[in-house]
Amino acid sequence: MLVDAGRVLVAPTAETLAAGEVVDCGGQVLLPKFIDAHCHILPTGLDLLKLDLTACQSQEEVLEAVRDRVAITEGWVLAVQYDQTKYPGGRHITRDELDAISCSRPILLRHYNGHASVGNSAALEAAGVSESTSDPAGGKYGRGADGRLNGLLLETAHEFVWERTPKVSREEMVEAILAAGEKMADLGIGMAADMMTGRFNLEDEVWAYREAARRGCRIKTRLYVQWREVFGPKGVGLQRLRELEASLDEPEQTRICGIKLFADGAIGSATAAIYGSYSGREANGPKVTRHGRATGLAGTSGQLIYSPEKLTDMTKVASDAGYQVAIHAIGDYASDLVLDAFEATGCADRHRLEHAMILSDEQIERVQKLNPFVTFQSEFLMRFGHAYRLQLGEDRTAKLKRSRSVLDAGIRLSYNSDRPIVPGDPLDGIRTAVHRPDGFDAGENVTLAEAVRAYTVAGAAVCGDETLGSLGAGEPADYQLMSLSSWSALL
Ligand SMILES: [Zn+2]
Repeated sequence: MLVDAGRVLVAPTAETLAAGEVVDCGGQVLLPKFIDAHCHILPTGLDLLKLDLTACQSQEEVLEAVRDRVAITEGWVLAVQYDQTKYPGGRHITRDELDAISCSRPILLRHYNGHASVGNSAALEAAGVSESTSDPAGGKYGRGADGRLNGLLLETAHEFVWERTPKVSREEMVEAILAAGEKMADLGIGMAADMMTGRFNLEDEVWAYREAARRGCRIKTRLYVQWREVFGPKGVGLQRLRELEASLDEPEQTRICGIKLFADGAIGSATAAIYGSYSGREANGPKVTRHGRATGLAGTSGQLIYSPEKLTDMTKVASDAGYQVAIHAIGDYASDLVLDAFEATGCADRHRLEHAMILSDEQIERVQKLNPFVTFQSEFLMRFGHAYRLQLGEDRTAKLKRSRSVLDAGIRLSYNSDRPIVPGDPLDGIRTAVHRPDGFDAGENVTLAEAVRAYTVAGAAVCGDETLGSLGAGEPADYQLMSLSSWSALL
């Protein structure tokens, strides 16, 4: 490979090798930089500043960590990577336990899956939530056997409370993006897509991504803007979105790629919209028919964020405005509704189905026909197997994220991390796709070449970047050299 001024002049192909243009990289492996096509860049950076509960193995250890944090900080105590399924008995920490640490300082523990939290009385109070507050649409305030709020916050209730935590300044945002870029570049990542831009404040975030790029952010960034921040009642509107797009004057470094929507929740909190029921529970959702025939299943379970009709309408609004639409769908029921919505746009092959953790053979056929991009996060299998087995049982868990079947159907599949939900080292994602962990069907393993491809060139393609992840002649020379021992560990 010949490189000049950051561009590839002569690509590393079989022909250049045959021509004798061999360079010794000192025993290292040359690869394109990884592309993390679905993650949360600003939240990753902000989380670097929060209390990390990853190492805690029990309720007591979590409470101890919170107590220590309270002692050395002021104001809100925000923690990440809370996961009750890892702790003895799988019991949630309660509002009362947190109140025993502090009833004046607001404390919020965010579940690793990003769809739930536990808070203390001060946090609920600061958010204006009281015993008489009713559940928001698409969410729930948990209550104990005595009927009192127990601090558990699910889906939109969790979002509602987090939205009332102290506002992040523009300068903090820039620092967080630069910090996330630093961390990701160290993992060999060259470009990443932020899948929820506007979660804090759309204007500030776009400004911060531009500013971070100007200050030399070590990764290229791509932005998928939250639907409601543009098209919702309080959204900035299409005209302003176009202006924001134009304000990003170095589009190779940072630009707006599309619009993001959520169809359902997550498996760990039993809020992914699935056919049938979660282990040990009755189906709590509507019975559905697919294309005029009953599914033969006992109804559905989980939480739809929007009604099927509304999801289709919202998707069409963004698609008709000319944007690629990326929709989070974990459960099989949610994936069908997303495919319905994509079909209604008339350009399903432009859009992105995110996660699609549960897919039947029939659904894979349907994805193949409609041909949207599909993105998987294989590292989830390595981190959250325990939660999946608890909620879905062994058999359904074994079939999650069917990479082999999806690739064999010719579907454009890419891999990414969804950090900060997981640590997000691409090597963990690749290794997990090549060697699925115990309890996951090994028949869905892919080859190392396929996994690297899904984390590089396929990741660029899903974001519309034709020149990244491949090291072709004329393309940015975003390459990395990996030690032979790291590479061998993937085989
Ligand atoms: Zn995500």
